[in-house]
Amino acid sequence: MKKLTLIPPNNIIIMDAFWDRYVRLVKNIIIPYQWDILNDKLESVKPSHCIENFKIAAGRVDGEFYGAAFQDSDLSKWIEAVAFSLATHPDKELEKLVDEVVDLIEEAQQDDGYLNTYYTIKGLEYRFTNLREGHELYCAGHLMEAAVAYYKATGKHKLLNIAERFADLICDEFSEDKNSKGYPGHQEVEIGLIKLYEVTGKTHYLEQARLFIERRGEKPNYFMEEIKGPRFEQIFNEFTDYDLSYAQSHLPVREQMTAEGHAVRAVYMYSAMADLAAAYDDVSLLDACKVLWNNITHKRMYITGSIGSSGILERFTTDYDLPNNCNYSETCASIGLALFGRRMAQITGESAYYDVVERALYNTVLSGIAMDGKSFFYVNPLEVWPDNCLPRTSKEHVKPVRQKWFGVACCPPNVARTLASLGEYIYFNESNSIWVNLFISSEANVIINNQEVSISMQTNYPYDGYIRISSNCEKSTMGKLLLRIPDYINKYKVFVDGEQINEIIIKNGYCILELEFSNQIIELDFDISPRIVRANPFVKEDIGKVAIMKGPLVYCMEEVDNESNLPAYYIDSSSDLEEYYDKDLLGGTMVIQCQGKKVRQDEWDESKLYSERKINYEDKTLTFIPYPFWGNRKTGEMVVWIKE
Ligand SMILES: [Zn+2]
Repeated sequence: MKKLTLIPPNNIIIMDAFWDRYVRLVKNIIIPYQWDILNDKLESVKPSHCIENFKIAAGRVDGEFYGAAFQDSDLSKWIEAVAFSLATHPDKELEKLVDEVVDLIEEAQQDDGYLNTYYTIKGLEYRFTNLREGHELYCAGHLMEAAVAYYKATGKHKLLNIAERFADLICDEFSEDKNSKGYPGHQEVEIGLIKLYEVTGKTHYLEQARLFIERRGEKPNYFMEEIKGPRFEQIFNEFTDYDLSYAQSHLPVREQMTAEGHAVRAVYMYSAMADLAAAYDDVSLLDACKVLWNNITHKRMYITGSIGSSGILERFTTDYDLPNNCNYSETCASIGLALFGRRMAQITGESAYYDVVERALYNTVLSGIAMDGKSFFYVNPLEVWPDNCLPRTSKEHVKPVRQKWFGVACCPPNVARTLASLGEYIYFNESNSIWVNLFISSEANVIINNQEVSISMQTNYPYDGYIRISSNCEKSTMGKLLLRIPDYINKYKVFVDGEQINEIIIKNGYCILELEFSNQIIELDFDISPRIVRANPFVKEDIGKVAIMKGPLVYCMEEVDNESNLPAYYIDSSSDLEEYYDKDLLGGTMVIQCQGKKVRQDEWDESKLYSERKINYEDKTLTFIPYPFWGNRKTGEMVVWIKE
């Protein structure tokens, strides 16, 4: 089976009212800010020691390893973000900075290709003795992804060669005929190996990724065997009493019917499974992906496109268990879900996968980062009561304000590389067709029948449902434009060169237009009025409650626009949802208001915790802002689901 191709990042430029502030943040703020953090230059932020670890491993300075075992991956994710940024915004100085750090990485690499500062400093005799916790293969995967992105952006081979040398060592160490039957304790190297195969054409990388996936769940379980090894040393306390489902090694992947364990590990693995299904034409592997996708998106996903309901071990729990105020919903997990969904859409050509990709990108991925680009959410709750998020409570992991940096800093650089690669999410392109997946103002060059066609999209989405797409090419050529009709759009119109199309052809959720690609103008007019959404009644947490959405955006109430004790509010769902654009609020945003009531608190005597008295209500106007923007003003309560 074939995967529809993405448009290379250097062939697309985003100029969008909604996304621009974030895309600009990546280049102007996040990349330099994170560079300073990786180099421990910011006194207000906990030291990362990431570059220092490389200097020690390279023998440039003396010292001890500091940070989490997977600290190296922060640098790789930073390089990947820079690479995507360079693809659209060349910057010689930034490129020089990367070249210098690539020299350092090369110096830290061992003669046989091994590259990991934690084990190089700790003692190389311990390498590959604790795959369960050691994260060497995880870091290797991020290195490979960074190397591929940097090579594609600049054409430079050095980092790619470094990654290949390490990949060759990994393929040798874990090949079919070697004794080690190991596989990563945190999936990611599979994605890296597949990308390395895609740029080099070397099939042993692809084959190694397949082996890693096929081995999971084999008996005896590798992770239970490796702890008997003479050099095995436990790294993380929480891994005592190790649960095999934590890293999805409880069953062979084709027998896994539900999404289990650590959410980020799970979706990274499913993404690799989808790639492998396409590469090997493996129908049973694709079916396994579909089963897992459906389990997540039908039963285990929040309205914000976030996953991982439990703060304990950041994991999936059971069907419909979606608590709003003590969930984990890691930013990285939504990034992984978007990566998985995009691959499923590339393989099947079905738009339903993109409904989830869009939901995750617009809500949880964006809420992961502050509007100034300098602080981040790791955990993305749907309801917060700041005074209640305290150590040694069930909400210990929930932070009511974004944090500057974390000891375990996976999310911030992951958001940066995702925002920098946003262009890859907008279109698919294949022979004579273009798929439009997201509605983001941009200019792109695509290839139709071997001819270059420029596609320009202009829109104020998701605040406005009007989208204008124009095509331009020297010689006209016939082809297809496939426009995704999101699942939340019930009414819409399509125009070609000003004429409304009356007989719309829809296949797999895309509206198909046969076009002559020469100076044509296509207009889409979606009814994107705000709407009230309810949860499946099996989601016990949300029974009797509603959420407000507009297009893909989930809305929330914040204390700063309303009053404290947000759970005391009730919404009158028969009242009109009024919306208006406030240019001064949060850098300009669409606000939604409606009518409702609030439980009267002033009638209660402070000495009474319980009473038989009747509840009275007062009329209130409820004010909502987009969920991704919450927590950018005063610290306070926030809630997504409101009592109806
Ligand atoms: Zn993370």
